[in-house]
Amino acid sequence: MSTKRQLINEQGIRTDGRGVDDLRPIKITLGYLTHANGSVLYEQGKNKILAAVFGPSEVHPKHTELPDRAILRVRYRMAPFSTEERKSPAPTRREIELSMVIRNALESVVLTELFPRTVIDIFVEVLQADAGTRVAGVTAAALALADAGIPMRGITAGCAVGKVDGKIVCDLNDIEDKEGEADMPVAYIPTLNKISLLQMDGLMTQEEFKQALSKAINSAMKVYQLQVNALKTKYIKREEVKK
Ligand code: ADP
Repeated sequence: MSTKRQLINEQGIRTDGRGVDDLRPIKITLGYLTHANGSVLYEQGKNKILAAVFGPSEVHPKHTELPDRAILRVRYRMAPFSTEERKSPAPTRREIELSMVIRNALESVVLTELFPRTVIDIFVEVLQADAGTRVAGVTAAALALADAGIPMRGITAGCAVGKVDGKIVCDLNDIEDKEGEADMPVAYIPTLNKISLLQMDGLMTQEEFKQALSKAINSAMKVYQLQVNALKTKYIKREEVKK
């Protein structure tokens, strides 16, 4: 008979040493690529995600352009070496769906109406995956868009929460995502106080859901603060050098 592994001990400590509300360590390296208009290497625990933005540029084929706004084109991919078991390099249904989910999460912030008849390409390349890559992908894409100087109504920050060993926890790692009771990725736009992505895999009671949503917003605010700090550090330094 198999017994379920304990993921949170009696002291409330998780398998990677975090408390229930702690996020994994986050590292943001803006302008990671030379040839992109904006880029970032975003690390959240073992997740390593490269986001690159190109454009606004001319649309090909031309008939797909929109007369009143830019098209956002998002490509989310996991590298074949990003998971413990090698993943097939062919695009999966999951990757195609997550590309759409990430685009939807970003569409409400980008001022696409300023760039009619153009396309803005966003590449989200997962180099190493350890759960929560769709929300880390949103966070990274928002940073790469800001780095490219694309005007936005705000910066979208993502973080997943979930239910593990009956407790609501923030920023699930891969074991918690797979063996926990529920996983809820959320993306939040602090300046608009708007949720732009909310999905749920698993079950929670209404009370647990309320607690999870509040923890997701708190976690996204922590991520947002780090995004703002990284952008200020890069661009305020640059302004000072110019003076
Ligand atoms: P998210 O990364 O947004 O949490 P999922 O819940 O679908 O998306 O995936 C959870 C985690 O499972 C991923 O971050 C990754 O670590 C792992 N995973 C996803 N797809 C695969 C795959 N095809 N092969 C191996 N591991 C995978």
